[in-house]
Amino acid sequence: SPSSPVVGRFAPSPTGAMHLGNARTALLAWLHSRALGGRHLLRFEDLDTGRVRGWAFDTTRRDLEWLGLDWDAEFVQSERLDVYAEAVAQLDTYPCTCTRREVLAAIQASAGAPHGEEPVYPGTCRAGSVNPGRPAALRWRVPDETVCAHDVLTGETLCQHLHGEVGDFVLRRNDGAYAYHLAVVVDDGLMGVTDVVRGADLWPATPRQVALQKALGSPTPRYLHVPLMTDFRGERLAKRGGAPPLMALQEGGEEPGRVLAALARSLGWEVPETVCPEELLPSWRAQLAAAQFPLSPQT
Ligand code: GLU
Ligand code: ZN
Repeated sequence: SPSSPVVGRFAPSPTGAMHLGNARTALLAWLHSRALGGRHLLRFEDLDTGRVRGWAFDTTRRDLEWLGLDWDAEFVQSERLDVYAEAVAQLDTYPCTCTRREVLAAIQASAGAPHGEEPVYPGTCRAGSVNPGRPAALRWRVPDETVCAHDVLTGETLCQHLHGEVGDFVLRRNDGAYAYHLAVVVDDGLMGVTDVVRGADLWPATPRQVALQKALGSPTPRYLHVPLMTDFRGERLAKRGGAPPLMALQEGGEEPGRVLAALARSLGWEVPETVCPEELLPSWRAQLAAAQFPLSPQT
């Protein structure tokens, strides 16, 4: 069968300065693309305008360059609104004017307490009963199906029933912003992304992204979810939680090779005091081999 080239990406949200956890995910995504001889994309996910910081685009680029992680092409989601509009138009959607509080009240009235982290929208506006005085979000009328996602690195499979466990989710918010799940699926599809290396926090959301891929006729990429970096308390590093920015290490005279070595050691890899990104390729290849990942480009 003809082999198609691997396309990977790093897709940061420019909402603040990159910290070591972001850097580790960026490193692994880069190692994966390069280990397979693929193209590597940088995609800024800046649709949540309220959280975006204008300066974070440049500091992210500089941090990546400082670490020696290059990319072949760059995209900015806010410049691609037409492609998201086109995708939404292909899907079966309906307007919803429910507030978060109304959604929670409706769930409590029907089934008791909401389960899971995100409440499952009970379909209040499915029949068209919107409040005309309010701006409307657009929700996807999800198919009555179970959708599974598979992770080729962890070997896990996660199946979710779209009606029971996901619910009709928002594709365009009531402020007009396209939702992350929509944009990521549209972009991975249009950009030909074959391999998604990203933080494990997104694993629970993967089945709904697979569902969107099916509905839009986009192929499902291979998924590799990597653990999030935690601090000494075992809590995940967060931009809002005061994790030290990479910039601070840079400005403090730290060497990128030592930072890369520290990131590698945090994954249990044995490396010298200082390394360049290319020197970590064998460690990532070993990790893939342990997961029985096919090391040649996709067939
Ligand atoms: N923009 C997302 C984040 O920063 C990552 C999305 C993805 O890799 O699919 O968490
Ligand atoms: Zn509603």
